[in-house]
This record gives sequence, C-alpha cells and structure tokens, in this order.
Amino acid sequence: MSRIAGVALFLCLAIGMPAQDRQEPPKVVKINDSVFMAPLGANVYLVKTPAGNVVIDTGIADQAPEARKLLGAENQAAVKYIILTHGHADHIGGIDLWKEPGTQIIAQRNYVELVNYVSRLEGFFVPRNAAAFNRTPVPVGPWAGNFGAKIDPTVLFDETYKFSLGGVEFELFSTPGETPDHLTVWLPASKIAFIGDNYNGFGEPEPMSFPNLFALRGTKPRWALDWVRSIDKVLALKPEIVLSGHGDPIVGNAEITRKLTRYRDAIQYVHDETVKGMNAGKDVFTLMQEIKLPAKFDLTESFGKVSWTVRGIYDGYAGWYDMKPSNMYDSPASSVYPDLVRLAGGPEPLVRLALEKIEAGKPVEGLHLTDVVLASDRNNRAALDARLKALEYLREHTENYLESGFLDYGIRAAKEKLGVK
Ligand SMILES: [Zn+2]
Repeated sequence: MSRIAGVALFLCLAIGMPAQDRQEPPKVVKINDSVFMAPLGANVYLVKTPAGNVVIDTGIADQAPEARKLLGAENQAAVKYIILTHGHADHIGGIDLWKEPGTQIIAQRNYVELVNYVSRLEGFFVPRNAAAFNRTPVPVGPWAGNFGAKIDPTVLFDETYKFSLGGVEFELFSTPGETPDHLTVWLPASKIAFIGDNYNGFGEPEPMSFPNLFALRGTKPRWALDWVRSIDKVLALKPEIVLSGHGDPIVGNAEITRKLTRYRDAIQYVHDETVKGMNAGKDVFTLMQEIKLPAKFDLTESFGKVSWTVRGIYDGYAGWYDMKPSNMYDSPASSVYPDLVRLAGGPEPLVRLALEKIEAGKPVEGLHLTDVVLASDRNNRAALDARLKALEYLREHTENYLESGFLDYGIRAAKEKLGVK
C-alpha cells in the first residue's frame, strides 16, 4: 500500500470507515523479545514483563479486535497498565477491549480537556469529519453539546510519571506537540521511546511529509515551539528505537537523530519565519505565499501543509483581528456580494471572468468569483459549473491528502446541486 493510501486508510479508519485498500493482512512486528507492535491504521504496542503486560495505545475502535488477535499469542498474562500517548480517537478506541479488572490506565493530565473538548463540540466536528472523509450520509444532530466525555484514565500526571513492573522501568514524560496531552514512554533498559503522533511516518520510507500542525477539520493551535521542545526531549534520551503512532519503527540512534532533527528543524523554521514576518508587519496571506520550506529539509506536503501551518501559527499568536476596521463588525465582505453582481449587470460577466481565471491557472481566484455570484443566487448553474471546474483543477494539482478530502467534499456538493454524477 502506498504511503498516501496508508494515510487515507488511517484517516478513514479514524472516523470509523471500513478499510478498503489493504492489500495484505498485517502481521505482528517483533521489536525485541518483550515489545510487539500491531501495525494497523494506528499502531498498538504490547510490552511484556515477568509481572504482566503493558499496552501502549489501543488503536482505532473498529480495528481493536484485530489488534488484540494479532497480539494475542504474546498477550498471555494480565494487562496491568494501558498507557495512552494522547487522546485522539485512533489511539483510545480499543480501551474497553484491553481493559481488565485492575488495569491502570495512564494519560497526561491534559487528556481530560482534550477529550471533553471533542465531545463538547461533537455537533461541530462530526459533520466536518464526515464532509472531509466522504462519509455519507452526513450524520445529523441534535448533538448534546457541553456534556463531558468518558474519562478512562485512572492515573493522570503533569510532567513525569515512573513505575516499574516485573523489573522493567517505565518513564513517562509530558511531550506536548500534536496535542497538548501528548506523552512519551521511555524504556531506559532497551532504549525504546514510544512517541505517539509527535512523529508521523507518513510518506516514508522517503520522502516523508511535513507534519500536520493545523488540522482543517478544526483544531486548537498545535504549538510549534512545544513540539520542537518535545522532540528535543526525545532526542536527549538518545533512543535506539523510536516507535510512533503511525508508520514503521525507526531503528538506530543515527537514523533517529537524522529524521527527528529534520522534522524539528522544519517546524522551527516555519515558526521562526512566521514570527519574523509578523514582526515585519506582513499579513497572514502574504506569509502563506512567501514562506517555503528550503530544499535541504527534503519534506513533501502530502500530509501537513506549510501554508496552513503559517496561518495556524499566525492566528494562534494573534487571534482573528487583522487590523481592517471592516472586520471588527458582524457584517462580512460577502454581505455586499449581491450588490457587486448587480453592478456587474448580472452573474454572466463574473462567471466569464471566473472561467478566464481558471483557464489562466488561477483557480482560487475563480472560486472567489463564484462565491460572489452564489451569494445572491446559490443555484446559479453557470456559477456552479465554473466552481466545479475550479475545484477539479485544484484536486488534480494537489498531492496533499487532506486538501484532496475537502476538495472532494466541495466537488460532491457542487455536483449534487447540478444534479450530475
Ligand atoms: Zn494518530
């Protein structure tokens, strides 16, 4: 399976869609005599000790039985601990299946707010996830809102938590990055670090992708400097094996250092350039256009996109006000779109211009023009046709998996209105 397909698989599974493109059945991966990995959409790890087992991440709910089966031969003793590297659905979906009477479940303290926030905004997230990942029909509410999530962990810690089981030392560190509750599990004796999604093997073996510092489906800021510091914390351990939430193990300290350093430096670079531009008085769109990853990083944008990261950092620091007085008020620019259509003498010249823009390789400008027309006549066929062309152009020219998902959503919506397949 290609890595892009792998990303697709993970994301689809993360929201409960069936696996469709898996070509060969996954096999359990033996990391050493006591550490085993179920390499599914999100990896599940089992650490055996003479006094019982420790499960690190429980995977996607739909895949949990498969993970348990894969690890079954090794899981002959009681599961004493479950450790959650973070609270995303693709890592906590199998908790109920792995939990036994007396199992301790450990997470970093920010886990509680993370899962509550996702639950609190269920009505916001469910349709957006469905839209992005082609999940039809789109679920409709009513959504409860403001109700707390189920909190499974029995142990919550702030900075570090250590325990020993059957003579094996486990050291847990807070390493915020993709989420504020991210933690790293360190096994000092075997020099293995489990780092969750603070490193994603998407795009590997090479070239790999820049990380996803801003999720279009909706996310709180993923603080770049936290992420950088967390990677430094992992590097300082001098691990010999790094095991992440998605993708293959990274083996050997030299290779780990090469990959994690490149990842860290790319995040730091985009952060620093954004800050430099903000201090120079540049607006967010200028910086989205200007900031490019230098070739030395050799990272694609198949998963995370640099321009979205720039905007995420900018807005994360500055909030929504862009110093334009018109944007202080509740009347958006689109409130005058119908007037512009009238002044243009109707939709036709605007649609014509949109098509010219698309033809000239400026599909986003074409899209903006269709927004103007559709604001006053949302079923205008010529504008919908032009919109479809712009979206299909963009879809054809992107390698980014997440962008593709949202473009597909736009394409489906336009086709639906046009009554075409
Ligand atoms: Zn994940």
